[in-house]
Amino acid sequence: MTKKRNSRSSAIEDTMQAAQPQKANTELIDTTNVVFQHTGYPWNDLGVAALWRWLDSQALEHGRDSTGNPVGHYKGAECTLREKSLTISGKEAAVYALLDEALKVLRQSLEQPTKKGNPGLSSLARMVFAGQNTPNFLAKFAELPSKGQWRASGECSECGHKGVPTRVLGTSYNPLLVGWDDMAGFYSELRKQSGFEICQVCAFATPFA
Ligand SMILES: [Zn+2]
Repeated sequence: MTKKRNSRSSAIEDTMQAAQPQKANTELIDTTNVVFQHTGYPWNDLGVAALWRWLDSQALEHGRDSTGNPVGHYKGAECTLREKSLTISGKEAAVYALLDEALKVLRQSLEQPTKKGNPGLSSLARMVFAGQNTPNFLAKFAELPSKGQWRASGECSECGHKGVPTRVLGTSYNPLLVGWDDMAGFYSELRKQSGFEICQVCAFATPFA
């Protein structure tokens, strides 16, 4: 396994920079970093912790980086848990495949077939994700920004990343985003005047809580 390479700081930046010609070696061009940031929003940070727990359980090998942080190695990718972040890096296809697999497990944990045998949500999941009927409303990481509510460039109210795809917080998608100082994200009716926006990375992480 290779050590973490110095390429780009997130999948979003990766997308934004993809059009720029690069003559570095092909391994660097093909490398993606997805960084899940500690934000201070409990729902988000619990989601990141839960995501790490699952990733750690799936690692082919376990190791440490140069400063002693735990690293999980996978085919074509690796995950590093740091004090303030969880980073998944590697070949783009391998990184996205890991995230897709995590989402699949999350969907399965929320699923409870209806009496007629159709796909459905457990009663607890229906209470949290109000208005949803199946786990399939949870989108794949790479597909999130292509959904209708998203805009190409904004500032995340949670992690503070700027110039990344964002959407106004969805009450049913990321329902429990209470902050330390207000209930800003709990219901869309409570939107701040400035708006409460969430980025691709944070929107993906929170449902894992
Ligand atoms: Zn964010």
